[in-house]
Amino acid sequence: RALDAAPESEAELAFEGALRPSTLAEFVGQPKVRGQLELLLRAAAIQNRTPDHILLAGPPGLGKTTLAMIVAAESGRPLRLSSGPAIQHAGDLAAVLSSLLPGEILFIDEIHRMARSAEEMLYLAMEDFRIDIMVGKGAGATSVPLELAPFTLVGATTRSGLLPNPLRDRFGFTAHLEFYDASDLERVLARAALLLDLDISSSAIAEIAGRCRGTPRIANRLLRRVRDFALVHGTGADLTAVRGALELYDVDPLGLDRLDRAVMDILLTRFDGGPVGLGTLAVSVGEEAETIESVVEPFLVRIGLLTRTPRGRVATPLAFRHFGIERSGVDRA
Ligand code: ADP
Repeated sequence: RALDAAPESEAELAFEGALRPSTLAEFVGQPKVRGQLELLLRAAAIQNRTPDHILLAGPPGLGKTTLAMIVAAESGRPLRLSSGPAIQHAGDLAAVLSSLLPGEILFIDEIHRMARSAEEMLYLAMEDFRIDIMVGKGAGATSVPLELAPFTLVGATTRSGLLPNPLRDRFGFTAHLEFYDASDLERVLARAALLLDLDISSSAIAEIAGRCRGTPRIANRLLRRVRDFALVHGTGADLTAVRGALELYDVDPLGLDRLDRAVMDILLTRFDGGPVGLGTLAVSVGEEAETIESVVEPFLVRIGLLTRTPRGRVATPLAFRHFGIERSGVDRA
């Protein structure tokens, strides 16, 4: 799992933190989202008010947490970090909301995983900076309104379609983060190499950029493995070191990770390229359908290995070629 997109250990988090850009200007790529955020922040600054609520949507590792931190830093406001899985009751959310400082930025990662009851509390909080707290139980229960300090919610989700409409509608703006192209990834890597004081060749950078699944987090992580490889083998951080490290960690020529390959393998070999339903595919690889749909598939679609059709998921001719598998030729009609 060394190269999957989610951060794992404390060391990994510390490493990521060190490479995180802290201003919009330093944030590589995503020009559209940067422009949109910049406008929103400047308008709020001119009017001296809290910026509108912001929803950041996109697969893991593309910079959602980083952007939340940048929003706080650029607007000179404190930042509070929370996540959907940590909010399992309305009370969990009430505790966070009622303790916010005036103008604070509240980041809720994986906001689509928040408890339903909390979601409803959040609607009112986002709209009126107010919540209703239930006091007592049964027939004697009453709801007591509580005023909140104005705040800006920055929500992150792997897919905005997973959010209920009333919640989605309360964000002033939704930013859709896209996978990064090779030239942006090269810039991410060059910047990281500089911060790590790593002397790396441009061909090595280009090779990593082409094999990191369009994802800055994975690019940085591969860079670290290349640094290890160069250190241990006493070589420079060059193309040979990159190829050695990538081979050792089983990184596919297209940068596919373990789960990507498992999905493609099942689709190609067990289902002869499909079409196969999302649920069946998810059960076959032992993952949640949501993860397959919002984390695995977007990249496979983007690089042209898989298409989503009304009848199910279908492997493309390119996928058969890439994995060197022949279609069985059985008539599926
Ligand atoms: P997400 O919250 O979407 O999973 P993060 O914001 O945690 O992703 O980003 C993961 C890592 O990738 C960060 O530590 C950062 O170093 C790097 N990163 C992400 N986006 C960019 C970018 N646009 N420019 C430079 N580095 C980036």
